[in-house]
Amino acid sequence: RTFESMKLKPDLLKGIYGYGFEAPSAIQSRAIMQIISGKDTIAQAQSGTGKTATFSIGMLQVIDTKSHDCQALILSPTRELAVQIENVVKHLGDYMNIHTHALIGGINVGQDVKKLQTSQPQIVSGTPGRVLDVLKRRNLSPRHIKILILDEADELFTKGFKEQIYEIYKQLPPGAQVVVVSATLSPEVLEMTNKFTTDPVKILV
Ligand code: AMP
Repeated sequence: RTFESMKLKPDLLKGIYGYGFEAPSAIQSRAIMQIISGKDTIAQAQSGTGKTATFSIGMLQVIDTKSHDCQALILSPTRELAVQIENVVKHLGDYMNIHTHALIGGINVGQDVKKLQTSQPQIVSGTPGRVLDVLKRRNLSPRHIKILILDEADELFTKGFKEQIYEIYKQLPPGAQVVVVSATLSPEVLEMTNKFTTDPVKILV
């Protein structure tokens, strides 16, 4: 497979090549089109396989850049990872006129609120606690979110984020797509995915 054969938006394709990627990795070849199709997806993939770009490219293809509603939410277990993911999304979306924001704990929530109001990000990458906090404060509207990505789901589970993720999930519009990425598909992760996904496609790399 090539990135061209995926029929991506020209500006997204430009961002992918601009980032230095020439050909899709194994997981990218198998999962990007799957994510774009709108079906819930569970991908078993370790760090280093190109998993971040997989869900980032899929997500960038399905969001409407003309709208300033928040349309995509990525949850990950650590602040560092949430910031890294935001960076990858920003670079891949360099030519798409997208706005992103990292919602992480440890910094003043007032700054987040201000940024959410002024830049109106279509894509938010964050840790569950801070994301739930701004949703509860109604500083982020979940009404137009069409895709939820749970990255490193096994870590999200072991770090005890399950309840918070469920609280977030319940606020999404019915039918929102869920993509779960995990290095292992332990019974706990599978229990979590059963709760959050409908008839998911499983991709093992
Ligand atoms: P990840 O699995 O998301 O942690 O990514 C591992 C590394 O692979 C990152 O440094 C990416 O920039 C790089 N990478 C991801 N996809 C590709 C690709 N298609 N071609 C070259 N490098 C890639």
